[in-house]
Amino acid sequence: MSKRIAIVGGGPAGLMAADALSARGHAVTVLEAMPTIGRKFLLAGKSGLNITHSEPYARFVSRFGAANDRLRPALDAFTPEDLRAWALALGSETFVGTSGRVFPTVMKASPLLRAWRARLEKQGVEIRVRHRWKGFASEGLLVETPEGEAVLAFAAVLLALGGASWPRLGSDAAWVGELAEKGVDIAPLRPANCGFDVDWSAVFVERFAGAPVKGVTATSAAGTIPGEFVIAKTGAEGSLIYAHAAALRDALEETGAARLVLDLAPGRSAERLAADLVRQGSKASFSTRLRKAVGLDGVKAALLRECRADAAGLAPAALAAAIKALPLGLVRPRPIAEAISSAGGIRFDAIDEAYMLKSMPGVFVAGEMLDWEAPTGGYLLTACFATGRAAAAGMDRWLCNPAP
Ligand SMILES: Cc1cc2nc3c(=O)[nH]c(=O)nc-3n(C[C@H](O)[C@H](O)[C@H](O)COP(=O)(O)OP(=O)(O)OC[C@H]3O[C@@H](n4cnc5c(N)ncnc54)[C@H](O)[C@@H]3O)c2cc1C
Repeated sequence: MSKRIAIVGGGPAGLMAADALSARGHAVTVLEAMPTIGRKFLLAGKSGLNITHSEPYARFVSRFGAANDRLRPALDAFTPEDLRAWALALGSETFVGTSGRVFPTVMKASPLLRAWRARLEKQGVEIRVRHRWKGFASEGLLVETPEGEAVLAFAAVLLALGGASWPRLGSDAAWVGELAEKGVDIAPLRPANCGFDVDWSAVFVERFAGAPVKGVTATSAAGTIPGEFVIAKTGAEGSLIYAHAAALRDALEETGAARLVLDLAPGRSAERLAADLVRQGSKASFSTRLRKAVGLDGVKAALLRECRADAAGLAPAALAAAIKALPLGLVRPRPIAEAISSAGGIRFDAIDEAYMLKSMPGVFVAGEMLDWEAPTGGYLLTACFATGRAAAAGMDRWLCNPAP
């Protein structure tokens, strides 16, 4: 059998594994289905590549929900500080934004990916694009290549095929069927960090689709979080919605209903708002009272009317209460293909400490295809990088001693 190692999937997790293994002297081949590597990584850079987060480490490692404990060793071995040092070594200085999120100074992913690819090639990594892994044959990997189907043999394999969001960038989750057939336990893939459908009225959508709703707080089982979101034709999108997405999705799955409670005037108490509304008197129109007493107009005033059809008839105290706790009903998550990331994937119980599939010795896994999720904020990329390195270390140990 060849002593070469295959990394299947040229995203952040796979490339990090290729980096670590080639640095340890292994002969590495990356097989990537798409014509170029790192497409989702590049897309992530379009809106400002949020590579990690600067909050205290104890808080950082609590962001992965049920997977916190399982991811901890990988994160301990490659912390947000290590990630920043790694990017710097590739010529990408990083900075901490006002929210504590960490970005490369140039905001984009392309210079980092270019430098990274050059280093991988210098370390002898062979990158074969347009090579789609189709499954396992008895003598190796079944791969669709530009020259036709081939069986390629390797000493060990690391799968880093991504989740199920944005499939046109390459991660189409076609691996689920193949691995499930091999007895690998996989939690169903679900949208994470996604928008939600809302039953807006036609009039509201026509006027306000695309409008940002700024300076509000939203409450769900995830807590009370300040931020902003965007009115979409189909519902609600944006960072504040993503921050609540896991809680809303779970509520919809469990009870068939989910709602966010919005505070449209978070700086003022209900009592203060009620007093300010009373001062406007009853002669002023509803919109004037909202604008003058509460500072609500445009999309926020329309949102109040949309979610509380009786708002104009409410007495000041009840109106103030509605402004402070406006229920927004969510109907369903947007499809997984539109989500920033996916939840679910290969369960941690299906892998050992080395990130090797228990049912398939010599096959390692890393990145978003594992069963964890996290909010936006740089946690996703950090965990993909960290699990890529952890699986590489596991494979390195296994190659030195394949039958522990
Ligand atoms: C719009 C958007 C913005 C984002 N912004 C951020 C951000 O700012 N910060 C952050 O932390 N995260 C962000 N993310 C999430 C982050 O990009 C992903 O979590 C991360 O890319 C996952 O890395 P991965 O290596 O596990 O998988 P992927 O990046 O999905 O890479 C998997 C690779 O495997 C290849 N592949 C799949 N199947 C096969 C096959 N059968 N054979 C060969 N190759 C195959 C794919 O083509 C792909 O190149 C964003 C995501 C999106 C969609």
